[in-house]
Amino acid sequence: MAKNLKATQEDKCNGCELCILESQRQLKKVGLEESLIRIFKGESENSYKVEIDPRVSVLDIEKIKSICPKEVFEITEND
Ligand code: SF4
Repeated sequence: MAKNLKATQEDKCNGCELCILESQRQLKKVGLEESLIRIFKGESENSYKVEIDPRVSVLDIEKIKSICPKEVFEITEND
């Protein structure tokens, strides 16, 4: 069963970008370019959109989930 990272509580996101930094750290990349997770400003003030590339599942997604201070992520399983 494949595990997927989902942003089920996107409305709680504060835009801190810790999830991006953790995914980039795991890929040994510096900076935000080509990140598998991207955070965009939402329509209303202080709201954010979390975009997750499906390739993120090759990373330690438990670690990414646990680093988020707002518990935005959930891990789901696909058959
Ligand atoms: S770590 Fe959590 S709160 Fe911070 S930007 Fe990522 S999803 Fe949003």
